Amino acid sequence: MKNHISEAIIMRIKEYGEADLLVTFFTPQLGLLRGVAKGARRSRKRFVNALDILSLVKLEYSLKREGALYFLHSGKLINGHPGLRADYSNLSKASYMIELTEVLFPPGVADQSMFELLKGAFHLIDKGEQVAYIPIIFEVKAMALGGFGIHFEKCYKCGRAYSFEGDALFIPEKGCIACLKCHRESTRSPLMGPDCVKTFIGIQSESLTQSKERRWTEKVVKEIKSVLRLHREYHLERKLKTSKYVE
Ligand SMILES: [Zn+2]
Repeated sequence: MKNHISEAIIMRIKEYGEADLLVTFFTPQLGLLRGVAKGARRSRKRFVNALDILSLVKLEYSLKREGALYFLHSGKLINGHPGLRADYSNLSKASYMIELTEVLFPPGVADQSMFELLKGAFHLIDKGEQVAYIPIIFEVKAMALGGFGIHFEKCYKCGRAYSFEGDALFIPEKGCIACLKCHRESTRSPLMGPDCVKTFIGIQSESLTQSKERRWTEKVVKEIKSVLRLHREYHLERKLKTSKYVE
C-alpha cells in the first residue's frame, strides 16, 4: 500500500461509524479523495486541529485494499484560515468555491493548478484581500481549468474578429461571443462591453496574484456575473446549491 504525504484542503467532514470521521479532501496530485480517520472522534492526537473544513493541512494517507476509500494516518495543520470562518459572508464564498471545485473536478480528475487556485483564493479571502472579487476571479479561472474557457476572438457566426470597440454578446451554448449583427441581445445572450471582455480574457490567462491587482467597475462586475451565471448553468446543467452566495 503506497503511503502518500501531501498538502490537502479539507472539503467536507462527516461522522462515520462510532468513532471515525469520513473526510473529503482535495490534493494537488490525486484531486478529490475520501478517507476515513479511524478513531478521530475519540482522540484527535494524530490530527491536532487538522480535521476542520476549509483548513489547509499536510496529510498522510494510503488507499484501502479495496474500493476508493483512503485511510488517513495523520494530519498537521498548515493554515486554519480563521478569517474564512469568522465571517458568514466569507464562509458562504468558501462553500461556493468548494462546491464548484467538486463539480468541475470530481474524483479521478486531478489538476495541480486547480489545487493552487483554491488554496490561493482561500488564502486571499482569509487575509481580507479583494474579498468581493476573489469569487469572480476564482470562477473564471476554475471554469477555464475545467475545460470551459470562453472564446472571445471572433463572432462564432460570421467569424468577424472582436476589435474591443463596442459591445459583444455572450452565447452560452457556444461558449463564444457573437456580434450585434448576427445576434440579438436577450436574457439568454447578455451584452459584454469591451472592459468586461478584456477582464475576462485577462483573468483566464494571468495568475491569481495578477488578477487580484485588477481594478473593477460596477459595470464590469455586473456583466461578468451575468455571463458567469449563464455559463455555469449551461455547462454544469444544474444550478449549484451554493451559487446564491455569489449572485
Ligand atoms: Zn457576427
